[in-house]
Formats: sequence, structure tokens, C-alpha cells
Amino acid sequence: MDREEPVLKTLGDFSGSLGILRAPEKCNGSGDCRKSVGAGGTLCPSYRATKDEKDSTRARDNVFRAFLTVSLKENKFDNKELLDVFDFFLPSKACAAECLSNVDVASLKAEFLYQYYKTNKRPLRSKLMGWQCTVD
Ligand code: SF4
Repeated sequence: MDREEPVLKTLGDFSGSLGILRAPEKCNGSGDCRKSVGAGGTLCPSYRATKDEKDSTRARDNVFRAFLTVSLKENKFDNKELLDVFDFFLPSKACAAECLSNVDVASLKAEFLYQYYKTNKRPLRSKLMGWQCTVD
């Protein structure tokens, strides 16, 4: 099937992966991000808490790519389901450090939130946190 890959402009630099859509393709599906507590390292803190595949680096990485690829919206990042996928994600950077393929979901999440709030209102909690950080 000749699917045209959307070209997505980003604030972050994903040129090392040939763009933000290709960055998730680094995942080889090995499942090393599903390590249990006691297995050493940190990857992935949210998966270790829930033992649910949806909270693994692998799942978030692949869902991210899938949603952005099939979206028909002008802002392809305008996706509430993807916001929910990232809600329990802790940007520990353990994936970037410990994933053998250097999948970096923290950078994907940061870019996603930046783009998502271009067309959606920021929740009050984020504004309050941002305000608190500026006054401290
Ligand atoms: S995210 Fe990394 S550790 Fe997890 S399955 Fe993909 S390549 Fe393996």
C-alpha cells in the first residue's frame, strides 16, 4: 500500500531519526522495557508500577507512531487518546539511557504536549505549576 508519510514540523530536533515519525521505528519490540523491579536499572517506571503493557515504553512508542500516521487532522498531534497514553508516563529518561535502541519516549512526549496545546486549552493545574515555577 502506497501510504504517504505525513511530514511533521517539530520544535524539537528529531533529524537524527529522520523525523519524529521515524524515531519510534527504533523500537525492535524486544520487551526489555518490561523489566520488573529488582532487575536493575529503572526502565520503565510506570510499567514496573502497573505491569500493564500499555504503560511500557514499547506500547507508548508504537501507539504514538500509529496515531500520528493515521490522523487526518491538520494538527496531527491533536489527539485526546494520545494525551491519555502519556498521562501516567514519567519523563525519567530511563528509556533513552537503558533501551538498547535508544527509544526516547520522554522527547516524544515533550513534543507531543507542545503541539497538542497549540489547539487545546492547557489545564489549570499546568498553568498553576508553570506559574509556581516562575515565582519560586
Ligand atoms: S522500547 Fe526499547 S526496550 Fe522497549 S521493546 Fe522497544 S527497543 Fe526494546
